[in-house]
Amino acid sequence: MKVLVLNCGSSSLKYQLIDMSNESVLCKGLVERIGIDGSVLKHEKDGLDGKHVVEVEMKDHKDAIKHVLEAVAHPEVGAVKEMSEIEAVGHRIVHGGEKFASSALLTDEVIEAINECVELAPLHNPANLMGVEACKAILPDVPQVGVFDTAFHQSMPKKAFIYGLPHELYTKYGVRRYGFHGTSHLYVSQKAAEMLGKPVEELKIVTCHLGNGASLTAVDGGKSVDTSMGLTPLEGLIMGTRCGDIDPAIVPFVMKKEGLDADGIDKLMNKQSGVYGMTGISSDFRDIEDAANNGDEKAQVALDAYCHKVKKYIGSYVAAMNGVDAIVFTAGLGENGISMREMICKDMDFFGIKLDAEKNNVRGKERVISTDDSKVKVLLIPTNEELMIARDTVRLSK
Ligand code: ADP
Repeated sequence: MKVLVLNCGSSSLKYQLIDMSNESVLCKGLVERIGIDGSVLKHEKDGLDGKHVVEVEMKDHKDAIKHVLEAVAHPEVGAVKEMSEIEAVGHRIVHGGEKFASSALLTDEVIEAINECVELAPLHNPANLMGVEACKAILPDVPQVGVFDTAFHQSMPKKAFIYGLPHELYTKYGVRRYGFHGTSHLYVSQKAAEMLGKPVEELKIVTCHLGNGASLTAVDGGKSVDTSMGLTPLEGLIMGTRCGDIDPAIVPFVMKKEGLDADGIDKLMNKQSGVYGMTGISSDFRDIEDAANNGDEKAQVALDAYCHKVKKYIGSYVAAMNGVDAIVFTAGLGENGISMREMICKDMDFFGIKLDAEKNNVRGKERVISTDDSKVKVLLIPTNEELMIARDTVRLSK
């Protein structure tokens, strides 16, 4: 079965066509500037010399998906002969609120329920739904499945998801912690169990998804029992441009001092903070590491603060689970940041965590990176959210 996986943003979309008979990626690509001047599709396939680039006006997601399907079924650069070979489409949906604890076939009722979650993810869910509507229009007979970033965390107990706020805010508006990156946390926790040769039900794992956005999850017996992101993906760690946890009183304080309205402070915390705001250099950790190595003090402080926060979250999750068997690093920085992994795991022997400097000297490969005598195993596992989406799509579209 061939499954098209789509991750639609407001002006961009990523796609992969996966052959589920052997879980191989047949082709993949990215469309940028949908609905903006200069729309462009970049398509990749193994064996193709460079990228196949299509530069035509794509006024909306429907236009963009038509071009994606053309590329996928292109006689020279495509991976299938006919579009009809695509038997199902899997969509990444960011927010499923409390309605979705697992993936769902996208019936009209389910789409309506996702629409009701728009308020909780005003930037993401409408874009995800545009992709769904466009696919329904172009491929009306192909089953479509939605896979939610929040679903894996629906197993969190109330004590972990409730805020210390008036209870009506939860009952009236759904103000609670939801968590994100669930598909990635689920994938790497299952993979970790496989690598350790133990059933996931018997393991306590802390998964660290460290990308542009970053979150940690406490996975106890295969279930998310706590995670660092909250109502929105702003809570938790210091990120590329997001501030993560701060004293909430800073919000009205800075609004008054800087004369900001709600949108202004939201932008400041989401787009102008994190290591970018702390250093004024970049949101990319490679740039921050370079600057720190060249003696930039703010860059060094940002890296130290980042690792300190990750370390504190690991400690709190070990406490919450009453133990830990494995720590997993994944996503851009988790997979590639050799010195960052080292800094995070440093001085954790109290917990039984000992990183092996030699084994850790690797990027983007599945492997155990702790010493043989480390009580807690540290693993590096490249994430694969697309594969998880495709697996659920197969399961639900049969
Ligand atoms: P996204 O959340 O956008 O999917 P990714 O998981 O792709 O993010 O992570 C992107 C981040 O990973 C970059 O911003 C960069 O900081 C970090 N990163 C990627 N490669 C390296 C590297 N070699 N060393 C350190 N950090 C890296």
